[in-house]
Amino acid sequence: MAKLTTVLFDYGNTLIAFGPDQQLAQAAAMAEVLSQAGLTIDNEKLTKVRKDQILRPYRSGGKENVFEEVCREIVELAGPDPTGGITRALMAARQKAFIKSVGVQPDVPPLLERLKEQYRLGFLSNYPCSHSIISSLENLGMADFFESVVVSADVGYAKPHPDAYATLIKEMNLDPAEAVYVGDNWLADVQGAKRAGMRAIWVREHIPYETFEPEPGDIPPDAEIHSLMELESVLAAWTE
Ligand SMILES: [Mg+2]
Repeated sequence: MAKLTTVLFDYGNTLIAFGPDQQLAQAAAMAEVLSQAGLTIDNEKLTKVRKDQILRPYRSGGKENVFEEVCREIVELAGPDPTGGITRALMAARQKAFIKSVGVQPDVPPLLERLKEQYRLGFLSNYPCSHSIISSLENLGMADFFESVVVSADVGYAKPHPDAYATLIKEMNLDPAEAVYVGDNWLADVQGAKRAGMRAIWVREHIPYETFEPEPGDIPPDAEIHSLMELESVLAAWTE
């Protein structure tokens, strides 16, 4: 096996929790924008559309959602937006709510700091708004750990689509055989990374909001951990 030189990370539910609290914060921010515009949206309807939007990239050949389009879709559930002003306000409110609602466990930045001494580090996240991801990385003091930060919104395709991985591989000029991808999502992260020729570590620390069960023919991860704090010992065993 090739020498391990590079550790690549997913974001939501890998480096940070991104679960019901964060979803609720975004839903509340959206409801507030709509109510200020004199519109109301049925909560059940909103939840249903949000769920559909989250799963849409997986159903449409990997094409990532366009942030403005999914936000407009939500606004138009509540009422017309002829000037696009409500949609823009909703986009801004969601970005703000995202950044405000995510936090990192205190032992994660020191872990990245230690890993950076030994490995090249990279970052690849699925999200329709790269501004939210990059600002929150900066806000949590994690942006500088990574040589490259790639967000599916900027690629146009979401993991497990090969273009998402290829973009990071190209940006870092990587040999995938020397890299391991660390993520929580069986399909996007484990299958995506294995198909891209990398090792994969499946992290099962947080509760993901989108779950994909293993299917026949899937490739198993190279390791499975239940806390990010187990990562160093797995990597050490491969590096020796
Ligand atoms: Mg994730």
